[in-house]
Amino acid sequence: MVSSMKLRLLSLYPDQMNIYADRGNILFLQHRCEWRGIEFEVTRCGPGERFDPAEHDLLYMGGGQDRDQKAVARDLVETKRDSVARAKADGAALLAVCGGYQLLGESYELEGETIEGLGLVDLKTVREPGPRLIGPVAIEVDLDGSPKILAGFENHGGRTRLGNGTTPLGRVVHGHGNNGQDGFEGVREDNLIGTYLHGPLLPKNAWLADHLIATGLEHHHGERPELEPLDDGLEEAAHQAALTAARNG
Ligand code: GLN
Repeated sequence: MVSSMKLRLLSLYPDQMNIYADRGNILFLQHRCEWRGIEFEVTRCGPGERFDPAEHDLLYMGGGQDRDQKAVARDLVETKRDSVARAKADGAALLAVCGGYQLLGESYELEGETIEGLGLVDLKTVREPGPRLIGPVAIEVDLDGSPKILAGFENHGGRTRLGNGTTPLGRVVHGHGNNGQDGFEGVREDNLIGTYLHGPLLPKNAWLADHLIATGLEHHHGERPELEPLDDGLEEAAHQAALTAARNG
C-alpha cells in the first residue's frame, strides 16, 4: 500500500455548471479524503482552458440550466474533448451530473437547436414535449457485484436515451430516470458515470463518494486502496431521508 496518497480532482466549469449542491459534492470528497489523511487537490478548468489528463484522477462536471449548457458546450468540445477522452481511456474517474451528464453524449436537442456534446458515450438527449421530470428518485446500481441504492433528486426537461449496448448506471426504483419510460437511469462506461441525480448526490450516498475516491487513487497510485471506514451516521440519515422521499414521491 502506498503510504502517502493524493487525489487530484479536476472541476470542469465550476462557475457555469454548478447547481443543486454540485460544489457540495466536491467538498464532501475533499473531507472524506482529508479525514483519512489523503491529500486532496482541486484544479478548476473553465472556458478557454485546457488540461493535461495525466495530472488528474477524478473529473467532475455538475449540472446547469439550458443556457449554461449552451454557453459551455462549444468550448467543451473545442478545448477539452481530447483530454477528457484520454482521461477516460486511461482509467481516471469521471462523474457528470445532469446538465454535465447530457453533454457527455452526442447531442442535446432543444427548441429547434442541437447542442453538440462530447460524444464520449453513445447517448442522446432531446427536450421532448411534456413536463420536466422532477422529484426525488432512487435507483439500484451494481458497480462491483454488490447492488446498492443511490437516492437523490432529479429536475430535467431533457429525455436521455442510451444507444444499444450502452450500460445504464442503474435501474429506476422510484422516480423518472433518463426519460421516464425505459426504467434506466444514467450511464456508465469504464470509470465514467453520468447521472441525473443531484441535490446533493454524494453526501446522501457516501458509498459512491468512496467508490470515486478509490478509483481516483488507483488511477494515481496504480493500486486500489482499502479505504478506512468513517463514522457515517449523518450520511446514513441523509440517505434514508432521501430514500423515504423517493418512496413517497
Ligand atoms: N438543462 C437540462 C435540462 O433541463 C439539465 C438541467 C439540470 O442540470 N438540472 O434537461
